[in-house]
Amino acid sequence: MPTLIAPRARAPVYAERWPAPAAVESSAGLYIHVPFCARLCPYCDFDTQDRELHLIAPYARALVAEVQYLPAVPLHSVFFGGGTPSVLRPEQVAAVLDAIRARLSVAPDAEITIECNPNHVREARLAGYRAAGVNRISLGVQALDEALLRLLGRQHTVARVVAAVAAVRAAGFDDLSLDLMYGLPGQSLAQWERTVDAALALEPTHLSAYLLTLEPWTPMGQAVARGELTLPDDETVAAQYALLGERLAAAGFVQYEISNWARPGWAGRHNLGYWRGEPYLALGAGAVGRWGAARRKTTPLVPEYLRAVGEGTVPPAAVEPLTPEAQWRELLMLGLRLRAGIDPAAFQARTGLALEQAMPAADELMAGGFLEWAEGRLRLTARALLVSNEVLVRLGLAAGD
Ligand code: SF4
Repeated sequence: MPTLIAPRARAPVYAERWPAPAAVESSAGLYIHVPFCARLCPYCDFDTQDRELHLIAPYARALVAEVQYLPAVPLHSVFFGGGTPSVLRPEQVAAVLDAIRARLSVAPDAEITIECNPNHVREARLAGYRAAGVNRISLGVQALDEALLRLLGRQHTVARVVAAVAAVRAAGFDDLSLDLMYGLPGQSLAQWERTVDAALALEPTHLSAYLLTLEPWTPMGQAVARGELTLPDDETVAAQYALLGERLAAAGFVQYEISNWARPGWAGRHNLGYWRGEPYLALGAGAVGRWGAARRKTTPLVPEYLRAVGEGTVPPAAVEPLTPEAQWRELLMLGLRLRAGIDPAAFQARTGLALEQAMPAADELMAGGFLEWAEGRLRLTARALLVSNEVLVRLGLAAGD
C-alpha cells in the first residue's frame, strides 16, 4: 500500500514526540509498517527488505515500545501494512494491539486490518490474528494466473490463494479484501478477464486493483528498458480497467476510489481516511503519518529504528511541514480520487477557499469531459479515472513529467 510517501530528501530530520492531540486532531487512523518480505518482488519499490529477517522478533518488540510515543487519541482504524505484515506471529500482533489499546482508545467498531501473503495464511495463524482483535484481512493475490505470478516473482500459486481464502473464512473473518494488479508485461485482456472472474468467485467483500507502475531502478523496470519485457499498450490497459469496472459493477460492487471497489457497506475505513484528508499516525520503521500540519516519516533503516527505541528514545523521523497551500492541494488531489468527489462547502469550511479559486481550470476540464458535478460534489468523470494524473497536472495540482 503503498502511496503517501514523503519525499526522502530536503525534509529536516529530528527526533521529537508527536505534537499533543489537543493542539491538532481528535481522532485518527494508525498505520503500522512491517518492512520485511521473504523475497523481494522484481517490481517493488516499497520500504522493505529480505535480508535481516532475524530482526523480525526485536522489531515486533520495538513496535510495542514505540506505542508509548504516540499521542493518546481515539482510533477509528489500525492497518498493518508492509512489506509483509503476516511475517508477524499472532502473539506479536496481539502484543502490539494490546499496547495500542492500553495507550490509545480504539473505537469498539474500529477496522483492524492486516495485509497477508497467501503463503503465510493458515487457519491457526488467522485465528490468532482474530483473537488479537484483527477483523479484516487484505490478501496480496496480485494475479490468478500461474505464469504471471512467476513473472511477478511471487511465491504463491493460484491453488494457494484458494486455500488461503478458505482459511480466512474458516477462521471466521467476514471482511476480506483482495489485491490485484493489471497492466502486467504480456498480460492480455483475456488473461485479465479470467483473473477478475476467478477473484470474484472467491467472494471478497472488497477488491483493490492497481496498475503496475515501474520505477526504472527496479529489476522489472530495467528488464522493460532493455526490451526483455513489454508492457501492454494504453488501449489494452484502458480495456482492462473498463472490464474490471463492468465485471465488478455487475457483481454488486461499488467503486468508491480510482483503484478500490467494495460491496455496499464494506469500503475500507482506513484508506478512506487517507483520501478524505483525515489525520493518521504511524508506527514502525519507514512508516508515514500525517498529523496536524506536517507529514512525518520514521527512519526506514531498521537497525537505526531498533537502536533508538532500544535506547528509550523516539525513533528519528523526517518531518515535512505542510503549508496551508500544500494542505489544500493535497485535499483536492486525494478528494478527486474518491468517486464521491469533493464537497465544495466542506472544502471551503476546511480551507477558507472556494473551489473555483483553488481550481481555476476546472471549467475547462468540465467542458472537456474530465470533471463533472454529481449530487453537488465535484468529481472525475468515468473516462478521466485512468488519466487522473494528467487531469491533476492540468489543474495545476501535480507536476508533469
Ligand atoms: S511482497 Fe509486497 S512489499 Fe514485499 S517485495 Fe513483494 S511487492 Fe514488495
